[in-house]
Amino acid sequence: MSRLIPVERPSDIPSPLRGSPTGRLLEFHNLEREFDVYERAEILIGMCMDNRKQLRLPDQFAYILRAGGANLLPSEFKVSYAVAVGGIRWLALIGHTNCGMSGLSSRRGEFVRGLVDAGWEPADAADHFDRFAPEFEIGDPVEFVSHESARLAKRYPAVTVTPMIYRVEDGRLYLVRPD
Ligand SMILES: [Zn+2]
Repeated sequence: MSRLIPVERPSDIPSPLRGSPTGRLLEFHNLEREFDVYERAEILIGMCMDNRKQLRLPDQFAYILRAGGANLLPSEFKVSYAVAVGGIRWLALIGHTNCGMSGLSSRRGEFVRGLVDAGWEPADAADHFDRFAPEFEIGDPVEFVSHESARLAKRYPAVTVTPMIYRVEDGRLYLVRPD
């Protein structure tokens, strides 16, 4: 976790992000900045579907795309929509500690049993897991969010993509030091 950079005061926000929508996101959530009034979204936030994470944000400030592990690859058309139609030029990709999409392969038995309990045939449940788990496995969340941000930055050259981690232990956002 040594790659996580805490943001506890405005000067902790790197200068290229200060005053930007990404910097504001950090101020709203971590620094309790008073809410500004927004009439349209200024940022796209990609984050995991996990229920333990709630961001402190003003109304209308952000498009939020929630997907397992903050993996936006299967949601790329929605990213394109936010960029093309919503005019979004700032993207924060937020992974989190203790993510269920990390180490997914070790939970195959639990996953298959759970689907069987929910009415699936065992063979269908196992096939379903084997077919999709590799696509959704993120490995280490810090590494993942860093690589996925680099991929998105390449794909959308006019968009500034910033990888972050939400620590469920303290409910705060951290920047990720590049490797
Ligand atoms: Zn997660």
